[in-house]
Amino acid sequence: MEAVVPVIRVALPVPLRQHFDYLLPENVDISQGCRVRVPFGKRELIGVVWQKDPDTPYELSQLKPVSAALESVPVLPEKLRQLLNFAADYYHHPLGEVLTAALPALLREGRLLSDYKSTLYTLSPAGLACTAADFTRSAKQLALWQRLLTGAITEEVLLAEYSRNTLKQLLAKSLITATATERPAYDYQGLAQPALQLTVDQAIAVTAVQQAQGQFRSFLLEGVTGSGKTEVYLQCIAPLLERGEQVLLLLPEIGLTPQTLQRFEQRFNVPVQAWHSNLSDGERLNCWLNAASGTTAIVIGTRSALFLPFKKLSLIIIDEEHDLSLKQQEGFRYHARDLAIKRAALENCPILLGTATPSLESLYNCQQGRFIHLQLQNRAAGQAMPSFELIDLKQQQLQYGLATTSITQIRQQLSRGKQVMLFLNRRGFAPALSCQECGWLTECKRCSAFTTYHKHTRQLLCHHCGASRPIPKQCGDCGSSRLAPVGQGTEQLEEHLHHLFADTPITRLDRDSTRRKGALGALLNDINQPGARIILGTQMLAKGHHFPFVTLVIIVDVDGALYSADFRAPEQLGQLLTQVAGRAGRGHDKGKVLLQTQHPEHALLQDIIQNGYASFARSALLERQQTALPPYQYLALFRTEALQSELCQQWLQQIVAWLTTHAALQLMGPLLCPLERKAGKYRWQLHLYSRHRAALHHALAELLPVLERWPLSRKVKWQLDIDALDL
Ligand code: ADP
Ligand code: ZN
Ligand code: ZN
Repeated sequence: MEAVVPVIRVALPVPLRQHFDYLLPENVDISQGCRVRVPFGKRELIGVVWQKDPDTPYELSQLKPVSAALESVPVLPEKLRQLLNFAADYYHHPLGEVLTAALPALLREGRLLSDYKSTLYTLSPAGLACTAADFTRSAKQLALWQRLLTGAITEEVLLAEYSRNTLKQLLAKSLITATATERPAYDYQGLAQPALQLTVDQAIAVTAVQQAQGQFRSFLLEGVTGSGKTEVYLQCIAPLLERGEQVLLLLPEIGLTPQTLQRFEQRFNVPVQAWHSNLSDGERLNCWLNAASGTTAIVIGTRSALFLPFKKLSLIIIDEEHDLSLKQQEGFRYHARDLAIKRAALENCPILLGTATPSLESLYNCQQGRFIHLQLQNRAAGQAMPSFELIDLKQQQLQYGLATTSITQIRQQLSRGKQVMLFLNRRGFAPALSCQECGWLTECKRCSAFTTYHKHTRQLLCHHCGASRPIPKQCGDCGSSRLAPVGQGTEQLEEHLHHLFADTPITRLDRDSTRRKGALGALLNDINQPGARIILGTQMLAKGHHFPFVTLVIIVDVDGALYSADFRAPEQLGQLLTQVAGRAGRGHDKGKVLLQTQHPEHALLQDIIQNGYASFARSALLERQQTALPPYQYLALFRTEALQSELCQQWLQQIVAWLTTHAALQLMGPLLCPLERKAGKYRWQLHLYSRHRAALHHALAELLPVLERWPLSRKVKWQLDIDALDL
């Protein structure tokens, strides 16, 4: 009888929607989740064994053998592989690219895990034979030697207390022996800082989450800014640490990690690790390994932290669950919240989504009974919520874009030694330069957009494609040299504020002022000093930072957001206004918010201000139901771009034609994108709506393999965005 040659299916980090099957050489046994090196065209690639004995569509003679197996213990545990399979299916994305998002670069390059064992240091026989008299020249060496006399220590502990130099000196004298060892699990000694006495609402929330231990349950924790959500997180975590379990906290932005990290470290005194895009490859792998070995207790990270291979994950928390940056906006466009829920289901653990301004999706899930709704009605320390006042710009004299009322109120607060915050969602000096003679405006040559005038760096910058140009001396149309800025950005407002409030320190927070590494931290530090100060900035101000001394918030210009074509615009405006306003009055004084607008009667503004976000969101959800928009329908979006607009249109038209047989789908488009041209390319989109998720996904699964064979698909650049957020 002929021997059966085993075949394995390998997930390879390539953007192709197909299976890669290989032969497993005799005598090689390898489990799913382990890495292998395989021939791929003229190269070799590192992949992960995904399936053994698949139903291969290929002849065995067509298959090549695996070149080498890298390990016998899986780098990707089964639950993580299930998560990646789910993600690839749900987002209709090639498994290879999903794998790339989940596996640290060094592992994709084939580094061996055995190279990354922890090092354990002990005294050698020579070291044991020493006496204190041998170290009279160096107090540092003496200290380390004395410490090692009491027992072995790991490299992490050693380097936290002693210098690498001291270690090297003792190693050079052969007094220390180094041995490779498994990374040890973390050690919890109890609270390092006492917990706060919970309010009733907080206690109900903590109890609910604790009772769900060991089960998959989703909770929405809706609590106004400053209501003590973070305290709830901390108290949900404490009992898990007693049992040596692990917690993942997902945050939308890197900027928020240092603050939060500190708060968690102070409370627990356990290893808390940050995970975000600014880590080096080495730091990433280290965090990944520490999650796998149970060495780290808590990981605080951005989106892709949800793919870490925790040893015993028993709670996932997502802070600011409404935040759009939880959705990856390019390549593999997953929503971290939605995949984290799937992860919790696989791990059989609870997941807690916290925010002051829940997404309509999450509120809908509460209404449907899929999420358990927890609410914190009041600020924890008893501070009042800020009050809103609309400033009708049509009735006011303006100075540098600020109404007289606004200026008077700023003066009042500053004279009391308080901080004032101004929110203007446009960075740079002015949105464009304009010719005073003929009205010509500076436009990007490659995008359908104006170029922003940046006075400080003396350039015209396109905020869409990043192209920059020097400031023109003359009008591009009539040649006049009378060019002037139109409109106002944060850079200009800062300049004017210096004139109006000459002696007051001013801190500007926007992408330009925080570009340098460490700059954001330094600015936040200034803001945390008491004393009169003006803080101005873009939507960065809405991101969960704690500004204890702000008593007045001024929203300089809300009108740009009032008339948008995107059906999500009202929700996003409601969240933004509420979050910015929430920065006010977190200290002892009640806060106030002034909204400058030309449209004080606008229904949306009235609703948010009169009734608050919670009520506004519920009526917005009702409106989505009446208009059959998400979350009442499922949405998928094809986007395409090309140098020729017609190609995009034709390609989308071809999809429309192919989909006509699918009655359960409702199509909208092809439509030009709101930004019609970007970096020289025209952009079009097609919306697919369906009441039935399965019908939508079924149609897409049938369409994609067909679509990939269309010649036109190679002439345009395209992407599919499931549950798209930006239209
Ligand atoms: P959130 O995360 O909802 O914005 P925080 O957890 O940061 O709120 O809490 C806001 C402030 O209230 C913090 O200064 C915190 O120390 C305080 N705080 C939270 N819970 C309590 C409590 N139960 N008793 C007293 N102060 C509290
Ligand atoms: Zn541009
Ligand atoms: Zn001109």
